Amino acid sequence: IQPFDVERVRADFPILHQQVNGHPLVYLDNGATTQKPQVVIDALVDFYTGYNSNVHRGAHTLSDRATEKFEQARVTLAQFINAPDVREVIWTRGTTEGINLVAASWGRQFLKPGDRVLVSMMEHHSNIVPWQMIAAATGAHLEPIPVTNLGEIDLDAYAAMLDERVKMVSVGQVSNALGSINPVAQMVEMAHAVGALVMVDGAQAAGHWMTDVQALGCDFYAFSGHKLFGPTGIGVLWGRSELLEAMTPWHGGGEMIESVSFQGTTYNRIPFKFEAGTPNIADAIGLAAAVKYLNQLDKAGAIAHEDALMRAVQQRAEAFEGLRLVGCARNRVCVMSFVLEGIHAADIGMLLDQQGIAVRTGNHCAQPVMEYLGLDGTVRASFSFYNTLSEVDRLFEGLEKAKAFLL
Ligand code: PMP
Repeated sequence: IQPFDVERVRADFPILHQQVNGHPLVYLDNGATTQKPQVVIDALVDFYTGYNSNVHRGAHTLSDRATEKFEQARVTLAQFINAPDVREVIWTRGTTEGINLVAASWGRQFLKPGDRVLVSMMEHHSNIVPWQMIAAATGAHLEPIPVTNLGEIDLDAYAAMLDERVKMVSVGQVSNALGSINPVAQMVEMAHAVGALVMVDGAQAAGHWMTDVQALGCDFYAFSGHKLFGPTGIGVLWGRSELLEAMTPWHGGGEMIESVSFQGTTYNRIPFKFEAGTPNIADAIGLAAAVKYLNQLDKAGAIAHEDALMRAVQQRAEAFEGLRLVGCARNRVCVMSFVLEGIHAADIGMLLDQQGIAVRTGNHCAQPVMEYLGLDGTVRASFSFYNTLSEVDRLFEGLEKAKAFLL
């Protein structure tokens, strides 16, 4: 492991070295998806050029190789999230599918009329709608935990909501719209005290070294590979083995069965019980390559670099006339969600894009919290360890130009 050197790290990400609209690309849309280091791209090419085969068939040498790499990838991911047991790692398409799996499988089986499910007001739609759907099907109630003006979970309100009718609390570890880091470990303790389970949406946390399921103490944890420098179409759901064992699978098909007859079917053991059909073999292997890449980085150096970016962003934002930060949680990742007085977010996004600067604008799939804060959207610049301090300068120069043009 070498000390963190952002220029050396950037050299690992081929996409970053290009011109967009006549300017060097400044990629500040890491909350939407992260870029991929060359080793991830190579892992995909190696799979398709060297050993593409179906897994768990044991039919021939290539299939054995694919199976071995695919299962090794599961071990790599289990270690990354500090899962106590590799059988608790289920491959999914991403965070959305992981939450839907738990809502559909656990929820359909265990929620009863009058039960309560809590999510925070600042959740991504992926952590609201699956619960809404299962609440409608079971007669359970879905209730939002209030958020303060700073963009933090209102812990007093949360404490007051908890009672023995609460069966599930599902909460984002990091808000994609505001960047807030939520006090998940504390929320888990409080939920467990009334007998509720906790599901964590780790989509925005995974890329910032916060995925320790044992330290969080949660019961389920979902995240997406594409926000963790890996491919799209792959993600992980982690769940406690005793919960997963008790749950009925949601998708039926090959791989998830032990034996099938028209008299009845018995299911495979975990995790295969939840992995019906041919899995996304290549992308699971690609995601493991991403995690191995992260493992060889100077983690403390990368975290310190992200902190330095955040301090620079904060200073520049406070000095920028007409800029209002949305979400000022005391504990947050380097995400700047903001509005500029008198200018529509979409116009800013377009003018930044013309200068080669990629940000996201809109409600960030978190419409309830935007409405709650009285906004129809924000501009969001979301940073990763491969961003630089000079890119922070480029962003604020870009904003000056946009402001001069629009006002
Ligand atoms: N939750 C959060 C907090 C997110 O930021 C996202 C992605 N924007 C998701 C869930 C959904 O992730 P995916 O689309 O990869 O399933």
